[in-house]
Amino acid sequence: MPSARQRRPSASQGTGGVHRRAGDWQAGGMDPVIVVGAGISGVSCARVLAEAGLPVRVLDRAGQPGGRMASERHAGRAIDTGASYFTVADERFDLLVRDWQRRGLARPWTKTFAVYEHRTSSQHRTSSQHRTSGQHRTSGQHRNAIRLSTGPLRWTATAGLRTLVQDLADTAGLSVERTGVELVESGPSGLLVDSRPASAVVLAMPDPQARAILHPALAAERAGLSAAFEPVLVLSAGWPEPMWGEFDGIFVNDDERLSWITDDGSRRGDGAPVLIAHSTTSWAAAHLDQPHLDQPHPHQPHHPDLDQPDQATRSLLGALREVLGIDAAPAWTHLHRWPHAKPAAGRPESFQLWPSLVGACGDGWSTRPRVEAAYLSGLLLGEALASRLGESGGGPARR
Ligand SMILES: Cc1cc2nc3c(=O)[nH]c(=O)nc-3n(C[C@H](O)[C@H](O)[C@H](O)COP(=O)(O)OP(=O)(O)OC[C@H]3O[C@@H](n4cnc5c(N)ncnc54)[C@H](O)[C@@H]3O)c2cc1C
Repeated sequence: MPSARQRRPSASQGTGGVHRRAGDWQAGGMDPVIVVGAGISGVSCARVLAEAGLPVRVLDRAGQPGGRMASERHAGRAIDTGASYFTVADERFDLLVRDWQRRGLARPWTKTFAVYEHRTSSQHRTSSQHRTSGQHRTSGQHRNAIRLSTGPLRWTATAGLRTLVQDLADTAGLSVERTGVELVESGPSGLLVDSRPASAVVLAMPDPQARAILHPALAAERAGLSAAFEPVLVLSAGWPEPMWGEFDGIFVNDDERLSWITDDGSRRGDGAPVLIAHSTTSWAAAHLDQPHLDQPHPHQPHHPDLDQPDQATRSLLGALREVLGIDAAPAWTHLHRWPHAKPAAGRPESFQLWPSLVGACGDGWSTRPRVEAAYLSGLLLGEALASRLGESGGGPARR
């Protein structure tokens, strides 16, 4: 059997989508590697496999790359409804980010955020000691403490973080097939993804989502995918004009509902009066399953309440307006519920590759679960898998 590199598709196969190359390879006797999940980890893994000349199919139930680096359009512009920004420490990620910057896709945003401390009335008396110039950058009407906190450079994307994952896919000629995968199993002739044969399967998603699609007979893989993930609710809200002073982002401490606020106009660089507020994980857990009343259920008769924002939206908006001292109601709101926003704890391993040739990558495979970690996890799994498939002459022996 020819090696993986000998099977590299010709330039004439162009950028028509790596999954379309799979037919050629299947004709040559090798099933594609199926990557389930087109977040940054899945796409970075698929890139490495494609560059190694292996046939790859990328499946995602959303039908587009991005995952939790999610961007949606509201009021005519992109907003980030998942990750807020990313940081860069690793050399290989840095190279990629500098390339995005050169091409105008990513931009350095800020090193300084505010920290808002919710104070009880007895603490109010001392709060002035903590105040800094950051205090006037918000309303100044509340008596809570605000200080500034400087950290690593935070990067953002000019048209929304999702476009960066889209670019990773596009520049490798990868296209994403819209498929919600239901079952990954080991059949008599090898791995199957919803009955499609695969030479290897990459699960690039949070553990609970990966475990849910693994057949019980893949017991070691299921046992290895047992990390818990925590929820976050993300509220986006737009006003006709800015109702607050200048800031980039605010960490909200000691608040039951809110953990983080971004000025999206600052992040995007267009000055639009849009705020994004993230809930605490404990508050999200209590509000995750409430019906989203502003999205009428198709089987429910119309009811006037369905046009109103739901309780979670109202409550999170109340907390946001309270922290920033905003009196006016927003012109629009949108609530995104993330049931698996972030791992509850990190792991020392960067990925997992079982003897079955089922692999797992993503931000759950890191001690610092972040965008950068997810990218590196996918890249390292891709390298390990390419090497394993190269050694075995292109895939596991057909059973
Ligand atoms: C609210 C929030 C705030 C965050 N803030 C930051 C931040 O400020 N900085 C930072 O660095 N990181 C942040 N993160 C984390 C960052 O978004 C993640 O670390 C990173 O995007 C994870 O990428 P991933 O590829 O591992 O997983 P994901 O992006 O979750 O990708 C998994 C993909 O798998 C798909 N999928 C799942 N199940 C199936 C199935 N059965 N069939 C087909 N497809 C499936 C999903 O649709 C998804 O596209 C934040 C995340 C959230 C949610």
